[in-house]
Amino acid sequence: MKCPHCSGSLSEIDNEGVSLDFCRACKGIWFDSGEVGQYFELSRDLPELGEENREERPSGLSCPRCSDSELTQMRYSPPYALIVDQCSGCGGMWFDKGEVQTLHELSALLEDPRSRFAGVAEKLKSRGY
Ligand SMILES: [Zn+2]
Ligand SMILES: [Zn+2]
Repeated sequence: MKCPHCSGSLSEIDNEGVSLDFCRACKGIWFDSGEVGQYFELSRDLPELGEENREERPSGLSCPRCSDSELTQMRYSPPYALIVDQCSGCGGMWFDKGEVQTLHELSALLEDPRSRFAGVAEKLKSRGY
């Protein structure tokens, strides 16, 4: 796959059981739909940051997965200073260098152990337990 940001090629890296597509040139990371939640152990891909804090605009980047879809840039206002580009087609998300760290910090603040547990319970239920 091609990096949406610098058109370098993405290399697949396996990190904590989730395979991510990483660009060595610009250090951005592509997560397929569902992988952000898996990776950060969140109940959903993006914690509920509040729609009123979110501004959406076209990013001008094309989705590495669907190629004919454009990513939408979602910019969250402080205190959640996070910028994510998401594909409305496949639901994948692109994080520029540094944004993964930001999400990591946010997820620690936003998701409490109960919602993590809820996520796990949900998964078990979907497997028929
Ligand atoms: Zn790149
Ligand atoms: Zn896509």
